[in-house]
Amino acid sequence: MFEDALAQLDARHLLRRLRLTESAPGPVVTIEGRPVILMAANDYLGLATHPALKQAAIDAVVRFGVGSGASRLISGTLPPHADLETALARFKGAEASLVFGSGYLANIGLIPALAGTGALILADRLCHASLIDGCRLSGANFRVFRHRDLAHLEQLLSGRKARRPTLIVTDGVFSMDGDLAPLPDLIALAERHDARLLVDDAHGTGVMGDTGRGTLEHFGVESRLPFQMGTLSKALGGSGAYVAGPSTLIRHLVNHARSFIYTTAPPPATAAAALAALDVIRNEPERRTRLWTNRQRWVEGLVGLGYRIADTASPIVPVLIGQADQALRLAERLLQLGVFAPAIRPPTVPEGTSRIRTTLSSEHRPEHLDQALAAFRQAGHELRLI
Ligand SMILES: *Cc1c(COP(=O)(O)O)cnc(C)c1O
Repeated sequence: MFEDALAQLDARHLLRRLRLTESAPGPVVTIEGRPVILMAANDYLGLATHPALKQAAIDAVVRFGVGSGASRLISGTLPPHADLETALARFKGAEASLVFGSGYLANIGLIPALAGTGALILADRLCHASLIDGCRLSGANFRVFRHRDLAHLEQLLSGRKARRPTLIVTDGVFSMDGDLAPLPDLIALAERHDARLLVDDAHGTGVMGDTGRGTLEHFGVESRLPFQMGTLSKALGGSGAYVAGPSTLIRHLVNHARSFIYTTAPPPATAAAALAALDVIRNEPERRTRLWTNRQRWVEGLVGLGYRIADTASPIVPVLIGQADQALRLAERLLQLGVFAPAIRPPTVPEGTSRIRTTLSSEHRPEHLDQALAAFRQAGHELRLI
């Protein structure tokens, strides 16, 4: 029975399989025993292997063990969790924050706690799957608006029943396209229509804004949104996620977010590592500078080769291909040439928009990027894509 479904996926070039990365995340990783340049991780600042984060995690293991022993509401709230939540609230300029085991868990717990049956949720069509799943779980009426299309959103807002509680949902930085939500306009629209706005800043946290506080800092709108969520698993190099906002919201989540309540607290070491990551974000701004310099070099290189890239404003630089089989072929050839950047296909992205999603890190050196561009040139010519 499973064979048929798998064979069908394979025939459509949509079968996915796991590939083993045999070394720590970094600009160069080992795959099938060979070093390859990694152009696909979300570890934008190289913090997954930063000595300060590793040491913080080791120290927490020594003091508190490897597991938390219970859920947060039983006996699993340990000093690293409490310290991290205090630091995240300060980092985001919020009253309080709450840490979840992952971004996925945060979204499927947060959205149902914000909008229940009887509410309306309007989500950007390209927002992350975890947001969509949270919307579905909430039991609210759930509709999507066209990507970044404020006129469409306004139409949906105007057409709803009077005083219907409404939640607008968007990524801050879109994970597969690298473009930004038009936050100033979204906030104004939400205010005008008395709707709440949830921004998922998974890819903005640590990267966007002068001090890395995220996409809200980038747009200068931090004081205009009462709450937001983001992850500890991308630029912060570890795992987990947070919601930052008023303490009443945080207490509400402690009581209602099922993906917070009914799961074992994250290991103390991951909380300790995230706390150390916030220090690095503050104390090593040169990582962000290197990241944006690398991004510039990479975008110019790809465009110079004749590739079509998405309209990105972040270190996510998608190379648009179109058909899934072509994207797969390019990814395979790139890997043979020593560059790891997998094809992203439906259902992760819409039909006909398969792509190679490349990402930059502060730890790529110019010679890594030049080598990767040479591979893109050769593979692109061979496959007649450029
Ligand atoms: C990665 C991602 C998530 C999920 O976060 P995890 O910590 O990996 O579970 C949620 N939202 C967005 C926009 C993401 O890119």
